[in-house]
Amino acid sequence: VNETLFDVIVLGAGSVGASSAAQIAGRGARVALIDSRKPGQQTSYGNAGIIDNAAFLPHPFPRNIATLLRYATGQTPHMHAHWGHVPSIAGWLWSYFKASSAGGIADSAARLAPLCQHAVSEHQKLAAAAGTLHLIRDTGWMMVTRTQPGMDGIRGDVELLNRYGISHEVLDEAGIAALEPHLKPGLRGGLWVKASSSTSDPGRLIASYAVLAEQRGAALIEADARGLFRSGQRWVVPTPTGAISAPKVVVALGPWAKEFLAGHGVDVPIVVKRGYHMHFSAEGNATLSRPVGDGDNGYCLTPMTGGYRMTTGAEFAPRDAAPTPVQVDRAEAQARTLFPLSSRLEAQPWLGARPNTPDGVPIICEAPGQPGMILAVGHGHWGLGLGAATGRLVADLVAGTTPLVDPAAFALRG
Ligand SMILES: Cc1cc2nc3c(=O)[nH]c(=O)nc-3n(C[C@H](O)[C@H](O)[C@H](O)COP(=O)(O)OP(=O)(O)OC[C@H]3O[C@@H](n4cnc5c(N)ncnc54)[C@H](O)[C@@H]3O)c2cc1C
Repeated sequence: VNETLFDVIVLGAGSVGASSAAQIAGRGARVALIDSRKPGQQTSYGNAGIIDNAAFLPHPFPRNIATLLRYATGQTPHMHAHWGHVPSIAGWLWSYFKASSAGGIADSAARLAPLCQHAVSEHQKLAAAAGTLHLIRDTGWMMVTRTQPGMDGIRGDVELLNRYGISHEVLDEAGIAALEPHLKPGLRGGLWVKASSSTSDPGRLIASYAVLAEQRGAALIEADARGLFRSGQRWVVPTPTGAISAPKVVVALGPWAKEFLAGHGVDVPIVVKRGYHMHFSAEGNATLSRPVGDGDNGYCLTPMTGGYRMTTGAEFAPRDAAPTPVQVDRAEAQARTLFPLSSRLEAQPWLGARPNTPDGVPIICEAPGQPGMILAVGHGHWGLGLGAATGRLVADLVAGTTPLVDPAAFALRG
């Protein structure tokens, strides 16, 4: 009865939740943005910083036995698994395998591409309003390879980039050197996706969106979302400063969403792919001007305010299991042959968890059987970049205005 009344409660202040709150508050609604920790300091802090208009490019389950064996036996840093965990995610892995067929990849890309078109532009709008546009770099990202299979993979990507009109260039070694002169020689070629951007400080960028939400009138409240319950037509969250309620609630809890939603009878097909990062200094005057992915080894190097951030590929393990950063050592050995890294800048690697759906398409829709609950979850490999466009779509769904893109693509599929 003594509740503070809002129009919308947003649960989770990562890229998705902070962007949603800023957009909804910008339209004049009374918003509460809830997080149990500081905004933008979890998954949305630790990533490679790519804001990708080409986020529909696949991260497929390997379909050829030789590649699968190389992944499974740790011969490349791409993948690591806690094998005891694998049986519990077997159903999801099977769906991932099926979604990684040529037809599945084309279908996911077709559903995702319209939202991706807005990845950079929606971030620019929020960052401009938040005064943090200087944290966004418009130099694209690059993927490089030393191998012919790597070049063949780039051909597949180029087909999709052409289909959705994403500006890019296929590079030979001289082309790569012209853009990134400090990469070491021996590369066969690469792909430069010009249409995309990156941020030099993902945590600060997303925190600035939470501040923007506040400037637009939202209340930022530190509380545990797990207290959420329904009372009549309203959603209620107990907080340390009293209960708050609203007719609408947006669930943007990233890798924590699955178990949270299970408590409300909503089953979302999300499994985490954990990932690590470590910052390095560089030797001499070596620099990079954009994120550079090593296609042969599944890691990325991004110039960040805190140093050169090396992010690792997928680790299949329970979200909260103790860190097993074998991929950091394997990727570092490779990264040193690509770019003149100097010392590690932290004692321990950072560990986070990508919230992945099997088909790589996030879930942005009303929760079945839960009126007024909007899901914005499952952004997997690309939630930092897709957060701002997702926030815009969420704001449209909340307000009932013409949606940015057809939301049918993001329905929860049974
Ligand atoms: C190594 C790595 C590299 C990546 N590289 C990129 C990249 O280059 N580009 C890209 O776009 N994406 C990248 N990603 C993916 C991206 O980081 C995620 O998809 C994205 O951050 C997810 O955002 P989110 O807002 O859904 O979740 P989060 O950022 O995790 O936000 C969820 C929030 O919910 C809060 N929360 C959780 N439980 C509760 C609770 N009970 N009560 C209250 N609050 C709670 C958390 O504190 C958190 O702030 C990468 C991920 C990793 C791990």
